[in-house]
Amino acid sequence: LVKKDLKDNYCFYSQELQYKSLEQVKMINHLRRATENNEFYLLYQPIIDLQNGKLMGAEALLRWDNPELGIVSPVKFIPLAEKMGFIYDIEKWVLKTALMQKREWRDKNYPNLKISINISGKRIVSAGLIREIRELLQETGLKAEEIQLEVTETAVMKNMDASIKILNEIKNMGIQIALDDFGTGYSSLTYLKKLPIDLVKLDREFIKNISTANNDRLIVEHIIKLLQKLNIKVVAEGIEQEEQTAILRGHHCDYGQGYLFGKPVSKEEFERLMLSVSF
Ligand code: C2E
Ligand code: MG
Ligand code: MG
Ligand code: MG
Repeated sequence: LVKKDLKDNYCFYSQELQYKSLEQVKMINHLRRATENNEFYLLYQPIIDLQNGKLMGAEALLRWDNPELGIVSPVKFIPLAEKMGFIYDIEKWVLKTALMQKREWRDKNYPNLKISINISGKRIVSAGLIREIRELLQETGLKAEEIQLEVTETAVMKNMDASIKILNEIKNMGIQIALDDFGTGYSSLTYLKKLPIDLVKLDREFIKNISTANNDRLIVEHIIKLLQKLNIKVVAEGIEQEEQTAILRGHHCDYGQGYLFGKPVSKEEFERLMLSVSF
């Protein structure tokens, strides 16, 4: 099945991978060693309580800085890491680093800050995740209540029953579960019933036009109402304008995240933000 030749930018790699562009093959080879070469770091983006303007939490967002490739977006490398099975080690590092950071901030800056961590679908159903979380809680001395895990519906969809089982266990430990990118997937509403979620993060696509498009505003308003009835807290993603904040506040949206409040920043910058923030 190998067509033409390698110069055509296609390369036979392995059966599982099928055909990858040369760029992807290169990326995979770098990604393979990225954890041991310390090429990952985390940025933190503020999550604001829209009712009182205070800082509620920080979402940890992964960054990869490779000497040859430069800074690569997680949108590009995370799907590859999932396919190649590197995601387990990478996210193990993410979880540990984020929890240790949270522990440091709890002690010296901001005791009530929640730390929010993205987790890939493959990892949710992987063996040993629960044990890994328990061990990290012990090691860092953090309480489960101080942590939120963000999952996407596309991630859990592939392994619905197994994911529900594990997410239930995690929730029972006291960790909060957030459904990320809500509204971008398929039959969103059914997941609200099936999944043990505490929060829903309304995707940026929903929020983008709420100050100009009546339809979008109506949809957001009623989703928030529905979620409140289901006892699920709402985080609006991608807030960039004051008007959006005002509308969301008016509809009693609980939390907001977006460039208006702060972009993802280094731990040092986040510490400065913790001293000053009130919106
Ligand atoms: P996400 O979890 O939905 O994270 C929010 C993304 O939106 C971030 O992009 C953030 O920088 C961006 N964003 C936040 N506010 C605004 C805004 O006001 N305007 C605009 N235009 N964008 C905004 P980022 O950091 O590039 O991350 C992209 C995605 O990569 C994340 O989406 C998440 O799904 C994934 N990701 C990042 N770190 C991890 C990780 O450790 N594990 C997994 N599985 N996925 C991760
Ligand atoms: Mg997220
Ligand atoms: Mg999100
Ligand atoms: Mg998103």
